[in-house]
Amino acid sequence: VRPTDYIFPELDVLQNVTHPIDDCEHERAALVTLVRNSDLANMLHTIENIESHFNNRYHYDWVFLNDDDFTEDFRKETSEAVSGKTFYGKIPKEYWSIPEWIDPEAYQSCIDQMVSDNIIYGGSTTYRHMCRFQSGLIYRHPLLKQYDYSWRIDSDIQVMCDIPYDIFKFMRVNKKKYGFILSVREYLETIPSLWYTIIEFTEKFSQYINPNNLMNFVLDGEENYNLCHFWSNFEIVDLNFVRGEAYQAYFNFLDKAGGFYYERWGDAPVHSLGALLMLDRSEIHLFDGIGYHHVPFNACPVQNDIFVQNNCDCDQSTDHSWETDFFCNALFLQSLAHDNRVDNLFHK
Ligand code: GDP
Repeated sequence: VRPTDYIFPELDVLQNVTHPIDDCEHERAALVTLVRNSDLANMLHTIENIESHFNNRYHYDWVFLNDDDFTEDFRKETSEAVSGKTFYGKIPKEYWSIPEWIDPEAYQSCIDQMVSDNIIYGGSTTYRHMCRFQSGLIYRHPLLKQYDYSWRIDSDIQVMCDIPYDIFKFMRVNKKKYGFILSVREYLETIPSLWYTIIEFTEKFSQYINPNNLMNFVLDGEENYNLCHFWSNFEIVDLNFVRGEAYQAYFNFLDKAGGFYYERWGDAPVHSLGALLMLDRSEIHLFDGIGYHHVPFNACPVQNDIFVQNNCDCDQSTDHSWETDFFCNALFLQSLAHDNRVDNLFHK
């Protein structure tokens, strides 16, 4: 079947996109994974999955990043499994440690409180380094300089369907800058002051706020955050956006506010609010038809013709994409369709 013969999902019509036809042109793009040596077994399983559903036809590079040195064994096994070139980078120490503006005693008492409140990863400093790094520092890594797009692949994810087109070309042709597959609600206890800090950013740096933004997706009807965010363990981004002046100013502002450590801000709400504030609403894309699994949630195409066309290997009854309450994909589409900018305090 040639790409032109594919059935296009209704969602693509709604989002006004077309699927590119394969040609010999390769995008400047890479698959990017933050991973430890001890994750090798999971990593190989994930590589095999992404290769068989996508990359064995396109041979994109794969960049592996680690806060430690990669072992010879890790390099050998992964480079043999990837059909494109592989690159291995070490994260500079200052990108993986508590910044000097964080007060050690205040930090310790925040940690103690979060542990006693049983907040997920509340006691972990490493997890905080990981979230801070993924939130903004990762895009400064020299290994990513040569690319325009990255697809974040965590070490423990699975795609459940064939991807019958070049996902990076799709981004470029359709002028997309941020792509996601699932959106969920954040645990409020991990981000108590994030919303306030975001408002402060919009006041101090109003020049970076896109007048045609999609912030109405995350407003709860009043002026508060409804906690919806893109689940960033699947994420395709335009690197020129996230390493550009506006996004990096946004990241620096949040970093200085201290919430990556004093609270436990995740990279998912940080990326999401950045994209929602600073991109045009048409530049954010919900990918459908791919199928996805990362503990504990699934996306599995519910439309039978898409499910069959893309050889999906998942259980449609386990799909979380269209559930409401905790999940936000339906709300995302509604927000796109209903231009309620009039009521949106983020439209100047
Ligand atoms: P979760 O999805 O929020 O539970 O986070 P994970 O623990 O799955 O981590 C997200 C990604 O970062 C995965 O690809 C992990 O392999 C990787 N990762 C997490 N912690 C570390 C770490 O301390 N060092 C390195 N190098 N990678 C990490």
